[in-house]
Amino acid sequence: MRIGLLNIGDELLLGKTLNTNAFDLAGWLGELGHELVFTLAIEDREDVIAGVLRDVMAGVAGIGALPRCEKLLLTGGLGPTRDDLTRGAVAGFLDVPLEYNSEAEGWLAERLGVKPEAISESQRQQLYVPRGTLPLRNPAGSACGFSFELNGVSLFAFPGVPSEFRAMFDLHCRPSWQRGDAVLMRKRIFTFGLAESRQRELLRGFATPEPFRFSSLPSESGVAIALEAFVANAEVETQKVLLESAWKELLSLLPAESIVDLGGATLPQTVFHLLRERDATVSVAESCTAGAVGYLLTEIPGSSQTFKQGYLTYANEAKTLLLGVKEDLLKSRGAVSEAVALAMANGCREAANTDYAVAITGIAGPEGGTPEKPVGLVYIAVCSQKGAEVRRFQFRGDRKSIRWSSAYAALNQLRLFIINDLRKV
Ligand code: ATP
Repeated sequence: MRIGLLNIGDELLLGKTLNTNAFDLAGWLGELGHELVFTLAIEDREDVIAGVLRDVMAGVAGIGALPRCEKLLLTGGLGPTRDDLTRGAVAGFLDVPLEYNSEAEGWLAERLGVKPEAISESQRQQLYVPRGTLPLRNPAGSACGFSFELNGVSLFAFPGVPSEFRAMFDLHCRPSWQRGDAVLMRKRIFTFGLAESRQRELLRGFATPEPFRFSSLPSESGVAIALEAFVANAEVETQKVLLESAWKELLSLLPAESIVDLGGATLPQTVFHLLRERDATVSVAESCTAGAVGYLLTEIPGSSQTFKQGYLTYANEAKTLLLGVKEDLLKSRGAVSEAVALAMANGCREAANTDYAVAITGIAGPEGGTPEKPVGLVYIAVCSQKGAEVRRFQFRGDRKSIRWSSAYAALNQLRLFIINDLRKV
């Protein structure tokens, strides 16, 4: 199916709100095997909303600039405030009046736990729908949505609040949008520490078999590599054999250490599982990531079994007081140094009494760099009872990117350290 998306809201055009609804929908449709043919963010203005709806219909008739779609989702502008104009704009476009909907009133009364008479006047504004359209229950909020068919297109108006948009999509679209004729076949892993240029070289001889598609998506959390395709039900068994053998070949071409987990788990999931399997605990001492490593290590439910504590030691005195890093060492080597990273990790492990400890010290910038110690220089140390290891990194990018890259690199270093630690006697 071909789907179009209209996101309504000035805040999206003024750079105040990130259009996560467009991002989320693209992901859901990809999983469902449908095509998002356009997304358009527009102002909160009745004439603009109605004008774009006319353009969509022109696209359906093959005479407009917008691609033809079979379903159109509208998000935003359904609330009770003055700038919520979607209901009125759609009613104007359809040339019908807005009508109060008593079914929607019942849903809201139930949600609020009050009698219908007790619903406030401003809340009631959200219970109007254009005449002839179908009111849609909102399981996550108070504004009701609505849907209707026009010229072969199904239109759905949903609230803009991302949690409400998701809940409405899950209730009113997802179940009937499941494809019965095909399934998504996918293999995916995350790699870490393997530059994309190197990956390209390693996979030069690899031919992606039809109908599968190869994708490589880099981010601070690693590079997601996948082979995927929607496959007709009747062909699943045959394609399974093809996919398995292609995937095996692809994995054999990548360095084993760069593969975070053969089953496709993310870095935080993998580290959590490695620690759980060993019944091991970890602590962190962070100096340029302000808790980001602790955040990632506690992302998985149940991580309080593995994560004991963290120290945010920015000042030299804090490194000395909490981690026992010697003042002399800080003076002679500087806080951003290999020796201090190691001392922080060892001190952290001792103070927190954990099996593993991770320490980070670096310069996230934009100020504070010198020719010897430029912005982006980060030392990461990991230790256990069996020993310690420190690595030097030179990250690029802005402060945010340097901090997240450092935090993920620390997780990866811990992952490799735990795996290699086992091999030591
Ligand atoms: P409400 O009932 O809350 O008024 P609504 O349908 O009227 O819902 P809006 O008023 O347009 O929605 O937006 C409500 C909130 O959702 C705002 O914080 C807005 O920034 C956010 N929001 C709206 N559209 C999007 C979008 N496309 N992506 C992410 N957030 C959005």
